[in-house]
Amino acid sequence: QASSDSYETSSLRKDDSPVHGLSEMIVGVLGGGQLGRMLSQAASQMAIKVMVLDPLENCPASALSYDHMVGSFDDSATVEEFAKRCGVLTVEIEHVDVATLEKLEQQGVDCQPKASTIRIIQDKYLQKVHFSKHGIPLPEFMEIKDVEGARKAGDLFGYPLMVKSKRLAYDGRGNAVAKSEEELSSAITALGGFDRGLYVEKWAPFVKELAVIVARGRNSSILCYPVVETIHRENICHIVKAPAAVPWKIRELATDVARKAVSSLEGAGIFAVELFLTNDGQILLNEVAPRPHNSGHHTIESCYTSQFEQHLRAVVGLPLGDPSMKTPAAIMYNLLGEDEGEHGFYLAHQLIGRALGIPGATVHWYDKPEMRKQRKMGHITIVGSSMGIVEARLNSLLKEDSSDCQ
Ligand code: ATP
Ligand code: MG
Ligand code: MG
Repeated sequence: QASSDSYETSSLRKDDSPVHGLSEMIVGVLGGGQLGRMLSQAASQMAIKVMVLDPLENCPASALSYDHMVGSFDDSATVEEFAKRCGVLTVEIEHVDVATLEKLEQQGVDCQPKASTIRIIQDKYLQKVHFSKHGIPLPEFMEIKDVEGARKAGDLFGYPLMVKSKRLAYDGRGNAVAKSEEELSSAITALGGFDRGLYVEKWAPFVKELAVIVARGRNSSILCYPVVETIHRENICHIVKAPAAVPWKIRELATDVARKAVSSLEGAGIFAVELFLTNDGQILLNEVAPRPHNSGHHTIESCYTSQFEQHLRAVVGLPLGDPSMKTPAAIMYNLLGEDEGEHGFYLAHQLIGRALGIPGATVHWYDKPEMRKQRKMGHITIVGSSMGIVEARLNSLLKEDSSDCQ
């Protein structure tokens, strides 16, 4: 599909009809969580109309989007109804009804990225098969159908062994580590048994986790954001450092792997590529998300074009923006629920109160109706003139926090 076509039809119209905002096209987003909320924020700046589909009346995106249809992004009739109201369909979550997206595409509905991409990515095992076929370096992996199969995989890959659900995984809720053969059956049980589909991955002895946000326009042009380091706490992204403190050769390799991985998928938008760096300097792909991603939240304050604005530019067919950093360093700290209910809110608000006094810090609160332990409730980004400075500012924020809590 020619980029110039989509660009001209979606924006800067040549006829005399008034153009309200940068595009007349309504961008339909399946999902209205924090990513939908931040997409809506970026859209409002350019007067692009974002409409979200989410079952929760008071989902994080509802207050900020142009429109909100209450309904499930996993229900066929609802997705079809939603598509009728939108000029282009995109996602903020990959766990959507992909069969319906495929059907809609056949009827001419514009989905970005393509349904084929969502289909590959929403099944992590299929995703691994796809990337291995395309020569992307990955930890070794194998489908398992019973405990005997899991044992065989353990013999082959050794322990610890990572057992993963194929589908509906997020924030590590779909991963279980078996430290030895004895732990295999409890890991499998923890993931709900074999019904949902399981596979195993060889343990990746990583020294760092890295991520690259990749943007692809409708004309297939690709731009990569600077490589970042992601630090996880109990499988959940907790801290992101931008740029990653790794030698330029590693940055180049990580960017190459990310670009190659995204090139093997179809459609426009932001893609996030999660990577492992091993101690012998190898880069292995962990997984790809077909949408804006937690590892790219820092771009709102630290890059010329945020990942959210870039995603909108890409799916609408506007020219892509500059992904480079406009500040030397940024650190992003996720506000994960520390406790249920009111006490959780109290702890988060204590931290936010202090963050508001820190130079270079920006607070994002997603306004989720319920506070739960380990849930992503918001984030804080601190930008500054060096990584040392932004790290010191984060440390001072967190140190005060722990003394307050004691
Ligand atoms: P997300 O919220 O990013 O979608 P997810 O639930 O899909 O997470 P993964 O990305 O598969 O989970 O894994 C979460 C984390 O678990 C990784 O970031 C990494 O820290 C660890 N991990 C995953 N696979 C492996 C592996 N093969 N070896 C070692 N650690 C791993
Ligand atoms: Mg995932
Ligand atoms: Mg992940």
